[in-house]
Amino acid sequence: MASFAELNIFNKIIKFPELKVKDYQFIEGFGVVLTVEKVEKKSCCPRCGKKSERLHQNHQYLVRDLSQAEHHVYLKVNRRQLKCAYCQKPFSEEFDFVEKTRTYTKRLAEKIIREVIESDVKNVAERNGLSEKEVETILKEKFSDLKTEKPLGLKKLGIDEIAWIKGHKNYCAVLVDLETRKPVDILEKRTQECLSKCFEAWGREVLDGIEEVSIDLWSGYKNLVKNLMPKAEIIADRFHVMKLVNDELDAERKALKRKLKKVKKKVKRDKLILAITNSKYSLLKNEKDLNDEQKEKLKQVKEVFPELGDMHRLKEEFIKTFEKRDSEVIGLLNLADWLRDATSKFPNSCGTIIRWLGEIIPYFKNRTTQGILEGINNKLKLIKRKGFGFKNFDNFRSISLLSFHFNS
Ligand SMILES: [Zn+2]
Repeated sequence: MASFAELNIFNKIIKFPELKVKDYQFIEGFGVVLTVEKVEKKSCCPRCGKKSERLHQNHQYLVRDLSQAEHHVYLKVNRRQLKCAYCQKPFSEEFDFVEKTRTYTKRLAEKIIREVIESDVKNVAERNGLSEKEVETILKEKFSDLKTEKPLGLKKLGIDEIAWIKGHKNYCAVLVDLETRKPVDILEKRTQECLSKCFEAWGREVLDGIEEVSIDLWSGYKNLVKNLMPKAEIIADRFHVMKLVNDELDAERKALKRKLKKVKKKVKRDKLILAITNSKYSLLKNEKDLNDEQKEKLKQVKEVFPELGDMHRLKEEFIKTFEKRDSEVIGLLNLADWLRDATSKFPNSCGTIIRWLGEIIPYFKNRTTQGILEGINNKLKLIKRKGFGFKNFDNFRSISLLSFHFNS
């Protein structure tokens, strides 16, 4: 039998004020097992709230705790089942140090999750003397706690996507609270079915509270939001609108470049090719962000290809339209002017912009964009690339959301 002094040392090491160590055992190749019990004998009956200490039965199980000085530590916990003296029903006592039905302490779970966010499952498992499966179980269970929380108070929602497997048309949807700048959820597919299942699970209370939804130019999102969040204003994300214009400009650049092969005179052909080669970023990047070399390139390509010069000028005007801090009405008028000037050079972009005008104009009210999504998506891509020893989407989802929301 352990001496009082020895047990006292263990009490001081584990520092769980609600517990007292009753015995200990070193097991070679396993660790140290501390038999513990709750100090407080009385517990509240969850039905009537009255305190009781009438033992019904003992229930012993092992709980893994933080390692101490290289030793794995297990707590042999006796969770007493008591019988309420008033309502005569049995109930189990509650602990603070461990979640019900979990076989690891809360503080171990926190340490593991914090480490996995910085590193990966395999390393964390090795470092802590756990199996990868055990680490994944901790993540999964911690995540299920997080998942049961609904995004109450969500006012501005952003819907975007990232490629789940690079090069495949395999996208997952990223739902972001644009105010807290954190992802609310990540869905395996960006299909209407997948999204509506998620939104319906949030329930009316959440959906009715959403005031604005920022989306890219996909009518599937638009219809879904209209149906499920009729009170929300839909806003076409400014960066996706700009991408239309940039893509059309770039397509023209490529088409011109292809045609150059047919120019008969070599001297002329070489001059044209020289002017257009490496001009992509000079044309597409915001002009104010160009370095001297890129500015020189832009000048060169505009001189030789006046049609690209015209498109570039229109593209810059388009950006300015969105950057000016005008009201909705002025924004609409500016955009109408631009559409009139650009219709021959940017027929595809103008068509799409006109179709989405109702969603583009509200941007000028609150200037809601998905700008923050770029940072979030970069972080998600990093998590994805690190792999985290994860084999499937669910693991990616849980570690991603935990890394944004786990900050205790
Ligand atoms: Zn009772």
